[in-house]
Amino acid sequence: MTANLLDFDLEGLAFFCEGLGEKKFRATQLFRWIHQRGMSNFDDMSDLAKVMREKLKAHAHVAALPILSQQISKDGTIKWLFDVGGGDAVETVFIPEDDRGTLCISSQAGCAVGCRFCSTGHQGFSRNLRTSEILAQLWFAEHFLRQYLNQTERVISNVVMMGMGEPLQNYTALIPSLKAMLDDHGYGLSRRRVTVSTSGVVPMMTRLSQDCPVALAVSLHAPNDALRDNLVPLNRKYPLNELLSECTLYLNKAPRDFITFEYCMLKGVNDQPAHAQELVTLIRHHASRGLRCKFNLIPFNPFKESGLLRSDDAAVEAFASVLIQAGFVTTIRKTRGDDIDAACGQLAGDVMDRTGVAQRIAQQRAVPIQWTDRKIS
Ligand code: SAH
Ligand code: SF4
Repeated sequence: MTANLLDFDLEGLAFFCEGLGEKKFRATQLFRWIHQRGMSNFDDMSDLAKVMREKLKAHAHVAALPILSQQISKDGTIKWLFDVGGGDAVETVFIPEDDRGTLCISSQAGCAVGCRFCSTGHQGFSRNLRTSEILAQLWFAEHFLRQYLNQTERVISNVVMMGMGEPLQNYTALIPSLKAMLDDHGYGLSRRRVTVSTSGVVPMMTRLSQDCPVALAVSLHAPNDALRDNLVPLNRKYPLNELLSECTLYLNKAPRDFITFEYCMLKGVNDQPAHAQELVTLIRHHASRGLRCKFNLIPFNPFKESGLLRSDDAAVEAFASVLIQAGFVTTIRKTRGDDIDAACGQLAGDVMDRTGVAQRIAQQRAVPIQWTDRKIS
């Protein structure tokens, strides 16, 4: 087995190159070929010495994930389903907007947190993705999109870790992938434009603020512990007061001066005016200790197994106005890619038993999508 170079951030790649007897700075050139130019064929990396290229061919490779499907929505949203082996598949979604291009990336196959309203949670946990599997989603999407949109400049300006899985429960693989996203020799994304979304793994939030502070979104979904225990089972381990205190601390290191609170609107469950009032009281208490935040209300993307329903538009608006009147910046997430069921963080079309995935993968394998290196003229 040779090493997949998508497993490394620049520091890791430098270490790998040293192991091959190459100078550290060669890693920078290699890193740029891979991430900035989307190359995987070492022979095409013309400024690397032939000897180094031969060593790389013997000991390394750059491998994309096999694509099971690609769906393009009328609004330009693109969803890919990638095969990560063993009957597991993960989704990646590209969301184009006027002023940015956002890629929503998965961090795990399945998820152990088991939130009631989340289709990934209903699948259960299969395994952590490797760094290469996290980064391959960006690597592929960026270079595919440049070609597809006929653009030479960067297409993806924002990354949100809001696909399948709880990124802070896959911390070891997450950090090098974030570093490669931020690296000027990699994707050069601003820390403010890379967002980790978490259901509230408090100790790992502390570590993230130390190791690689990026923008933080916290999935709140409830204004009190009783309800949150029920919707986000991790709350039993890290209850709201602890979570919100950690959010306040995170701001000391964060690249943005606020935390985004995500709140999935579930009809009759957490969407009543009384919930909004309770939320205001809770957040005001923490705001008096320094917490700064914005709310993002997410219309629930329903799926049968959840037994839950999407809140009516009027309820969402009424909820938003309570927050706004209390002085909190509040947005309601637009649903995108509805026709391909690609709302970010919501992979409901794919609530599936593992056998279902395996079958689908077998079918899709029959029609592989070709992916070739682009040569630089
Ligand atoms: N595990 C992380 C990141 C992945 S989920 C987290 O929970 O934050 C990304 C976002 O999608 C979360 O805010 C989650 O609450 C939301 N989400 C999950 N299922 C959803 C659904 N069915 N409808 C709408 N939003 C959903
Ligand atoms: Fe996991 Fe996030 Fe889904 Fe909860 S909402 S089950 S933490 S992916």
